[in-house]
Amino acid sequence: MSLPKVSEFVRPTDLAAALHELESVNARIVAGGIDVVLFPGDTTKLVDISGIPLSGINSDAEGIVIGATTTMTALIESPLIADYLGGVVTTMLHHLASPLQRNLATIGGTLISAHPWSDVIPLFLVLGARVSYYDGTEHTVPIAQFYAESMFRQRIILTAVRLPAFPPGTAAAFIKFSRTAFDIAVLNCAALVQITAGRCTAARIAVGGAPQRGYLLPHAGEVLTKSGALTAEIIASAARTARDEADISDDMRASAAYRRNLVEVGVQRALGQIKDKLEAGV
Ligand SMILES: Cc1cc2nc3c(=O)[nH]c(=O)nc-3n(C[C@H](O)[C@H](O)[C@H](O)COP(=O)(O)OP(=O)(O)OC[C@H]3O[C@@H](n4cnc5c(N)ncnc54)[C@H](O)[C@@H]3O)c2cc1C
Repeated sequence: MSLPKVSEFVRPTDLAAALHELESVNARIVAGGIDVVLFPGDTTKLVDISGIPLSGINSDAEGIVIGATTTMTALIESPLIADYLGGVVTTMLHHLASPLQRNLATIGGTLISAHPWSDVIPLFLVLGARVSYYDGTEHTVPIAQFYAESMFRQRIILTAVRLPAFPPGTAAAFIKFSRTAFDIAVLNCAALVQITAGRCTAARIAVGGAPQRGYLLPHAGEVLTKSGALTAEIIASAARTARDEADISDDMRASAAYRRNLVEVGVQRALGQIKDKLEAGV
C-alpha cells in the first residue's frame, strides 16, 4: 500500500485549524487510515485529526456520547457500551471486520465512509443515533438526516455520535450474514422495539448491504406498532413485510432473490431475539 500523490501531512490540534487545512484542494482527513490508504484517490494532503481531543466514551442523562476518533476496539472494551441496551452495540462490533482492523478503525471514519455494507449504520439508524459535526460551528442532527442529506460528503469534521437512553422495556438486536467471519455483510439487519404497558409503542427495523447503504423499513415497523403485540405471528408478519418493502438488488456477493430471503430470516431472528430479551427482562 502507498500514497504516491500525498506530499503534505499536517496534525492540527483544534477543529478550526483542521477545517482550515481542509480548504486546500485534495486535502483529506485521516483517522484510522484504513479507507484513506485503500482508496487514496487524488489525495495530496492528509489532515491527521488524532491531535484533536475527539476520542472517548462518556454518558450523560441523554445517553452515551462517543468521540469521533474512538476506535472499534475501545468501544468493544467499554463497560458503558457493554451495558447499553443489553450490549447490542458490542455484539454488532464483534461482527465488524477483524480484531486488527478494529484496532485502527474509528467510529467517525466508519460513519463518513458510509459503506453500503456498514454494520454500524443499520444499528445506529434503529437506535435513533445523532451525529455531531463541525463546519465552522457545531451541529447535531439525526443520523437518518445525516445520510438522507448526504452531509457525510460535505467538508465537515464529524466530532461525535450520540446514542440515546431508552426507558425500561426497550430491546434491540443486530444480525449479520456474511460468507466468512471477517467478511463484509451479504446482508445485515437491526431492530429495536419498545414495550409500554404490555403494548409495542415503538419499533424500528433497518437493513444494510442490500447491497446499498443501510436504511429503515417503516412499514415493517408499523406492523408491530399497529398490532401492539410481539407474538410469533406478528413477528412473522413484520418479517414478511420487511421482505416485500426492502429495496434489494444483485451484486458479486449474492443474488437479489437470495438477499430477499435473508431480509425475512434476519428480521425474524432479530425480532425473536428482542422478544426473548424483553421476556427475560434484559
Ligand atoms: C478488509 C476490510 C474489512 C472490513 N470489514 C468491515 C465490516 O465487516 N463491517 C463494517 O462495517 N466495515 C468494514 N470495513 C470498513 C471499515 O470498518 C472502515 O473502512 C473503517 O472503519 C474506516 O475507519 P477509519 O478510521 O480507518 O477511516 P479513515 O480511513 O481514516 O477515513 C475514512 C474516510 O472518512 C474521513 N474521515 C475520517 N474521520 C473523519 C471525521 N472525524 N470527520 C470527517 N471525515 C472523517 C476520511 O477523510 C476518509 O474519507 C472493512 C474494511 C476493510 C478494509
